[in-house]
Amino acid sequence: MLIVMRTDATAKEIERVVEVISELGFRGHPLPGAQRTAIGVTGNQGAVEATRFENLPGVAEVIRVSKPYKLITLDLKPEKTIVKVGDAQIGSDELAIIAGPCAIESHEQAFAVAAAVRQSGAKFFRGGAFKPRTSPYSFQGLGEAALEILAEVRAAYGLKIVTEALDEAGVDLVERYGDMIQIGARNMQNFSLLRRAGRSSLPVLLKRGLSATLEEWLLAAEYIMSEGNYNVVLCERGVRTFVQHTRNTLDLAAVPAVQRISHLPVIVDPSHGTGKNHLVGPLARAAVAVGADGLMIEVHNRPEIALSDSAQSLTLEQYDVLIDEVRLIHNVVAPVPAI
Ligand code: PEP
Ligand code: MN
Repeated sequence: MLIVMRTDATAKEIERVVEVISELGFRGHPLPGAQRTAIGVTGNQGAVEATRFENLPGVAEVIRVSKPYKLITLDLKPEKTIVKVGDAQIGSDELAIIAGPCAIESHEQAFAVAAAVRQSGAKFFRGGAFKPRTSPYSFQGLGEAALEILAEVRAAYGLKIVTEALDEAGVDLVERYGDMIQIGARNMQNFSLLRRAGRSSLPVLLKRGLSATLEEWLLAAEYIMSEGNYNVVLCERGVRTFVQHTRNTLDLAAVPAVQRISHLPVIVDPSHGTGKNHLVGPLARAAVAVGADGLMIEVHNRPEIALSDSAQSLTLEQYDVLIDEVRLIHNVVAPVPAI
């Protein structure tokens, strides 16, 4: 159920509706929009009697929701959500760039890459402390030591830190050192992790699962939002298909497809999406052309000796050229008109 408040509804009236929702044993999620606030109701198993709300002061309309989504949907909030990460934003008119190495390997490596990322004008620095590797014998990340390096990067360059939490304890650590919690493809349906991230005050970057449908991905975002964290950014990073020429198949159609359903920002990761250095640039450019709100790019000061994802990492020089290109494209296509 979706309760649409009148445009002139007061904060008190909105509060009262949320209270009544709680008294009935459900949870109300007020999402203010440009025109009006709508309140999503979750926690109900069956239908809730609309008449309970229709006559409350400030209520314009009560809408039954027949779709599986309650909170990610444009029905609740017709305007795009801008996720604020400190003074940086994702989903605004500015193309968001999240760049950095696959994994933090050393202080020297992190700082060499961060200097270039900062220089490019990007606002976000990525780098894994805990790496979800296919083999238990591969480099697993430096753990908390990497988070300490990331915190130093943040202090030195003012970049916002985006880093992955593999489990609930990892969220505690990212909260201590970082600015945005990344939930990786392999964890997209780790429901206890999603709920924990939903109780965090940090924004969440939710990557699409290796074989997730659009609906499964959006419902994973619902898990986070249903716990009260509405700052979710979706990240398309390719899905597993039969093809051999790329690591994953980057599904760029997912960007406009998500935008037709959801107010959440959606960014693209052409690094994991292709797995190959020479494909990252072309797919990054295409991602911006289809209307992505940002890019996640892996870049390394010495890709040839990177401890993970060496083949897809851009050199600092390649990265620099690419950022100029995607900004030019973004200036041409943004803002994407609503269809
Ligand atoms: C990553 O961004 O470092 C990563 C492991 O990505 P994904 O979860 O998309 O594989
Ligand atoms: Mn990687």
